[in-house]
Amino acid sequence: MRFDIMTLFPELVKTVLSESIIGRAQKSGAIEVYAHNIRDYSKDKHRRVDDTPYGGGMGMLMSPVPIYDCFTAITAPEVNSCTKRHVIYMSPRGQVLTQKKAKELAENYDNIVILCGHYEGVDQRIIDEIVDEELSIGDYVLTGGEIPACIVTDCVSRMIDGVLSSPECYEKESFYDGMTVEYPQYTRPPEWRGRKVPEVLLSGHHANIDKWKEEEAKRLTEERNKK
Ligand code: SAH
Repeated sequence: MRFDIMTLFPELVKTVLSESIIGRAQKSGAIEVYAHNIRDYSKDKHRRVDDTPYGGGMGMLMSPVPIYDCFTAITAPEVNSCTKRHVIYMSPRGQVLTQKKAKELAENYDNIVILCGHYEGVDQRIIDEIVDEELSIGDYVLTGGEIPACIVTDCVSRMIDGVLSSPECYEKESFYDGMTVEYPQYTRPPEWRGRKVPEVLLSGHHANIDKWKEEEAKRLTEERNKK
């Protein structure tokens, strides 16, 4: 899977995605991540990328012109041979990201292009021109789409072959099968500050352990849904 992230702050994106599992996945070649600076495509002599909104209103809006020039440059066949491309605009207005959506993205595309807005967002025409889907990471507003883009990249990457040690690592987790959350987990020591690991987990009785895990997942899912 190849990710192309269009942003005004490429270093922010690169820094977040260069560590740990996602950093290693890039080194091993399981995924490719490129952060492109939209400002590099500005033809303005001051390298401006934003302007005041027509009709008034607060703040600045990102112009469609450098974003489009960035998009056409990074998706040109000479530099990007992917054939199953999906273009996402990170936006509080979009459908909220779920595990199901991330799985769909991991399974259906070989190139995910993500546009990060900043300031008040982007001119509607760039969305109409190049974007397949708007995605949100939750019903709240952030200063920019960079952290949301990293979240989408991280979540989708975990389901790409070779990123985790085996598909079991993500198939048995919260939300993979609908809205179930994971059971509580414990590691050594068996007792810590008077808190004991549930007896059944130390029993070696696999059928009972599986039953316990299932019941605990159900209990926590119900508790979560009540909130
Ligand atoms: N004026 C916009 C908010 C702009 S926030 C509105 O009222 O809807 C600036 C940028 O941050 C957005 O363009 C978007 O790319 C990103 N952003 C903010 N909150 C987000 C969220 N919950 N999910 C995804 N992207 C978000």
